[in-house]
Amino acid sequence: MGSASTLCSISKLNVHRDNVVFLPKTRSSTSAYQSGFLGSKLPGKLSLLSIQKYPRNRTGPFARPGSNPISASHHTFDVVIIGAGIIGLTVARQLLIGSDLSVAVVDKDVPCSGATGAGQGYLWMVNKTPGSDTWDLAMRSHRLWVMLAESMREQGLDPLQHLGWKNTGSLLIGTSSDELDSLKRRVTLLQDAGLRAEYLSGGDLLLEEPDLLVDKDGGAAFVPGDCQLDAQRASAFFQKVNRHFSSEGRYAEFFYDPVTSLLRSDSSGDVIAVKTSNNTLYSRKAIVVAAGCWSGSLMHDLFRESEIVLDVPVKPRKGHLLVLENFDSLKVNHGLMEAGYVNHQIATPLPGISASEAYDHGQTLSISMTATMDSMGNFVLGSSRQFAGFSTEVEESIVNGIWNRAMDFFPKLRERPLSDFIKSRRVRTGLRPYMPDGKPVIGPVPGLPNVFLATGHEGFGLAMALGTAEMVAHMVLGNSENVDSASFAVQGRCC
Ligand SMILES: Cc1cc2nc3c(=O)[nH]c(=O)nc-3n(C[C@H](O)[C@H](O)[C@H](O)COP(=O)(O)OP(=O)(O)OC[C@H]3O[C@@H](n4cnc5c(N)ncnc54)[C@H](O)[C@@H]3O)c2cc1C
Repeated sequence: MGSASTLCSISKLNVHRDNVVFLPKTRSSTSAYQSGFLGSKLPGKLSLLSIQKYPRNRTGPFARPGSNPISASHHTFDVVIIGAGIIGLTVARQLLIGSDLSVAVVDKDVPCSGATGAGQGYLWMVNKTPGSDTWDLAMRSHRLWVMLAESMREQGLDPLQHLGWKNTGSLLIGTSSDELDSLKRRVTLLQDAGLRAEYLSGGDLLLEEPDLLVDKDGGAAFVPGDCQLDAQRASAFFQKVNRHFSSEGRYAEFFYDPVTSLLRSDSSGDVIAVKTSNNTLYSRKAIVVAAGCWSGSLMHDLFRESEIVLDVPVKPRKGHLLVLENFDSLKVNHGLMEAGYVNHQIATPLPGISASEAYDHGQTLSISMTATMDSMGNFVLGSSRQFAGFSTEVEESIVNGIWNRAMDFFPKLRERPLSDFIKSRRVRTGLRPYMPDGKPVIGPVPGLPNVFLATGHEGFGLAMALGTAEMVAHMVLGNSENVDSASFAVQGRCC
């Protein structure tokens, strides 16, 4: 059976028969991985690039302005990445800056059409738990984000402009004595894990956030080093970085081009190509499935007629955010989140549906207050969680629920009804890739060593993107000694 290390560099295909393609094995990949987070391969100024606007009805491969369109047929890359959300884009970037491999990113739509486009953008450690399975990945990722912002500054790029980057610090707010006790314990744990964290009593909290309603049972865990970004700006930035490599022939994007099947070698059984509606994308080294909440159904469809038994239990967990543009009725100085968010304990069944009925129908709804001021001065209020299939339709009852919950924390919001903001409000919805055991799945598919899954980050995909990308790049390049990924393995969770 062929393995990643024996998959070879080729310039053309020899035999193409039915769904089986044979590749000549002429040379092993010798790409070395560079561990720098930007690496020496990052071309110069990024600001020279323009951002492409994609026509909604486009089909076929994406062509950069001024470049020759790639003809719709067969193309060969070292790595083919399925999904252009934050995970797919950052995995592509990591491989491009850290190795010599060529990379294609394919999406049924465009970047930010999935969960990424809805994300609130907090990259917080205050809501992560030291010692949990995801702690190290979260810490590493956080560090990589901070390093990225610092290195951008060193290169003369403004992270606020390019990533929507703000170092606001974060506050996890408690409103009952039980919550305050648990926040105090959390602060101790965070401090023991090496983070700067403080417990703020009600009085201190009010000094930080004068517009908050804080009574005697109010207090917060404060992590001053926490940051936030704008998911859309960050995605556009990673696209720009990736596209710098297209002039070297190392990067291509195929958007509005859904993946429909995989081609496998009948001699080795390895997956050798990804078929899309318009193209066949051959992969010399690896295929990375980063298709967010669609990864489960996609993998099911792709392996339906094979002997591979794979059930990726990732589910879409719908979320709403309420964005109030140019909002000046109140101010928040930090990123804010209510303590209940951490356990998703605040469950509010939909009107007319009892909690047990809602659960039976997969509709369990929870709303927890999160509040950030984004890089454009908009007040962003979140957020909801529910299982409602793949629909992203805006539900007014949930928008009202978010507003009502925010009013519990910000008395000034009670002075005007939400209907007053009808012209300046926007609602973002997205489908978080939820894994039942609460952690992403990152690793090779057993029996198919060149197919890697990277999904299931639920509400932490932005925060964990850079650490995930680094982990996947190490796996693809065979540097498994650098990867502690046992907690995220496919084996035992999906097969
Ligand atoms: C309301 C809300 C708020 C959030 N806030 C935060 C936050 O503040 N911080 C944080 O860290 N996280 C947050 N998240 C979570 C975060 O947005 C997600 O974890 C993250 O975006 C997941 O990224 P992804 O790349 O895995 O998936 P996605 O962004 O969903 O991307 C998957 C891509 O795969 C493509 N695809 C699917 N099927 C196919 C196919 N057959 N062929 C080709 N392409 C395909 C899709 O079109 C899509 O572009 C939030 C999410 C929501 C909904």
